[in-house]
Amino acid sequence: MTVSHSPFTATVLGLPRIGPNRELKRAIESYWAGRADAEHLRAVARSLRAAHYAELRAAGMDSVPVGTFSYYDQMLDTAVLFGALPPRVDAISDPLDRYFAAARGTDTVAPLEMTKWFDTNYHYLVPEIDAGTTFALHPDKLLGELAEAIELGVPARPVVIGPLTFLKLAKSADGPALDRLPDLLPLYRELLAGLADAGARWVQLDEPILVTDLTEAEIALVRDTYTELSAASDRPAILVATYFGHPDAALSALADTGIEGVALDFTAGTDPAAVAAVPALARKLVVAGVVDGRNIWRTDLDAALTTLGTLLGSADAVAVASSCSLLHVPYSLTPETGLDDRLRSWLAFGAEKVDEVKVLATAITEGTTAVATELAAARAAAASRRADPRLHDARVRARLTALDESDLTRSPADARRALQHEHLDLPLLPTTTIGSYPQTSAIRLARAALRKGEIDEAEYVRRMRAEIAEVIALQERLGLDVLVHGEPERNDMVQYFAELLDGFAATGNGWVQSYGTRCVRPPILFGDVSRPTPMTLSWIGYAQSLTDKPVKGMLTGPVTILAWSFVRDDQPLADTARQVALAIRDETVGLEAQGARIIQVDEPALRELLPPRASDQPAYLRWSVDAFRLATAGVADTTQVHTHLCYSEFGEVISAIAGLDADVTSIEAARSHMEVLDDLNAAGFALGVGPGVYDIHSPRVPSVEEITASLTAALKAVPAERLWVNPDCGLKTRGPVEVEASLRNLVTAAAALR
Ligand code: GLN
Ligand code: ZN
Repeated sequence: MTVSHSPFTATVLGLPRIGPNRELKRAIESYWAGRADAEHLRAVARSLRAAHYAELRAAGMDSVPVGTFSYYDQMLDTAVLFGALPPRVDAISDPLDRYFAAARGTDTVAPLEMTKWFDTNYHYLVPEIDAGTTFALHPDKLLGELAEAIELGVPARPVVIGPLTFLKLAKSADGPALDRLPDLLPLYRELLAGLADAGARWVQLDEPILVTDLTEAEIALVRDTYTELSAASDRPAILVATYFGHPDAALSALADTGIEGVALDFTAGTDPAAVAAVPALARKLVVAGVVDGRNIWRTDLDAALTTLGTLLGSADAVAVASSCSLLHVPYSLTPETGLDDRLRSWLAFGAEKVDEVKVLATAITEGTTAVATELAAARAAAASRRADPRLHDARVRARLTALDESDLTRSPADARRALQHEHLDLPLLPTTTIGSYPQTSAIRLARAALRKGEIDEAEYVRRMRAEIAEVIALQERLGLDVLVHGEPERNDMVQYFAELLDGFAATGNGWVQSYGTRCVRPPILFGDVSRPTPMTLSWIGYAQSLTDKPVKGMLTGPVTILAWSFVRDDQPLADTARQVALAIRDETVGLEAQGARIIQVDEPALRELLPPRASDQPAYLRWSVDAFRLATAGVADTTQVHTHLCYSEFGEVISAIAGLDADVTSIEAARSHMEVLDDLNAAGFALGVGPGVYDIHSPRVPSVEEITASLTAALKAVPAERLWVNPDCGLKTRGPVEVEASLRNLVTAAAALR
């Protein structure tokens, strides 16, 4: 069998879709609101795709990914492609509405679950596949986008999630979804034949699952799957793309098959020498991901050329690429006029990454002299970055060097518990909330007015204080035991701190899709981090001045700040984490000095940064736990430290939860029916715990009976002395009426049980 293909030299693995100015977000939301029809939405989508293709062509990409466009999510698109939407949406006849129903739910239909795409901040929809799923090919979207691209003269390379990744990430009610592989593979073959027919020379099958730990049986499946898919002759050349890590044993398995190319992520620890040593790659195209697709730093072109040089000696051909889809970075630096020139010169967003790919491809095809100017500019930028004093704050570094284990350690938990019991004088089963109260339109309007210069800082502070006063009064009225200030001043729980800490910069238009139409603008952590001034003291102090009950100081933890920022790549993440932790520690100490008796440091992202390979996980858990302890261990034993974790399936991080040594941990549990408490007990956890007694993700008001049932279940696993009563998560997305009703029931249930 021979598939005729000529290799390409320069590409990216996938494209963002939300639009350089979030045009798609607006079009989709207008469609949802009934303000625009499907035709308008399609037209916006088409013009965004066309503009993107044109840019990639102009930048010299000789192979262009097609099909990574999505109205919501690529895993959902793959489920549609293979007819694998759950039967509960079948009744919705319009395909677009059915698609959005699967994504977001309706009044009567529950959506697919959503979860993080590997260790990125993108969320995908989890396909539901079980023994009853009947696969059927629906290639219209992909074929349509392919035809459209070919029409535009684009060297189109259709991109599809590969069968192993699709099934491994799906959830199933009855046995592993991967068992359905034999039923799915014929559809992939049919799809490949259809794509070849339609004029595709190459197809890219994304298999990021290959960078996770696979069993030997699964590695065998890799070999069998791609042997089978490559056996056909009526197909495009197959590129299997891996990213976010190194494929290890899966690489040899792939190389043994008849596929024509493999994409590898050299920004995530894949060793070029190890790749060069795989003999079967001598007959393949290696698509070398040397331009980091998920961080925003300018590429070290010399280092990339060294990697490419190693590969050129052994592969049949080498193409230069981004390490993964450009979905994870903002579109372009062009609108970022607010960044200082030096910082700006160190960065590369999507458009600049495409240019870097081209420069590197030119260097290997025509020689480095052809790109001497570009190489010199990259070196100058790197030198300016290395020499910048903001990256080497002697004071921060000296403080960190002076720390030892005692700075991370508090007295034994039991001793603290006794002291805090006296100091706080709380009832049994104390009631509290996670931090935020509804972000009302008054709050959003005030923020917008401040941004537009319609009100001054003093007026903004006045309005936020009015919100705080209301939230305190509400909590007093409800009879909660530990109060919060409600977080009205936080635009976002990470951005708020990034704006106040040294070492961070904010972009003006650096939007990245988080899920669906939700976009975030992650801050850039570029230098040594420190806290020049207090960040929360005046808000918390004001709240405390209004009540005799304890008000929790409320902070975001170091790991979460890292996870939701673009982080510097010139030092280990663990070192950056210590700097952020030290800055947060300064704030905890400041809060305590001001009289705070309880301080909560949220770490909802602790699990997100967990590396995909088990062998890398212990080191991560060590430094992330240490960072939390550094941030929180500077306070007296009488001060109660709380943390909040935003999930209930702890998995590999369960042992770390106890390691955090927080006096009280609030977690999600309402949806997992308190099983999480048994997991915690099994891991030896013996600190205070507040399993969420109702699910804040839905507008439903839980009844007193339901909350009592949750608490009764919790009391089977945890003694009353350790149990706290709180909702699942912050209340910022909920409406004021339902919040008041829900919390009233929560307080009633707790009081009755006491
Ligand atoms: N304190 C934050 C809040 O209540 C925690 C949010 C979170 O866990 N993501 O909003
Ligand atoms: Zn939460």
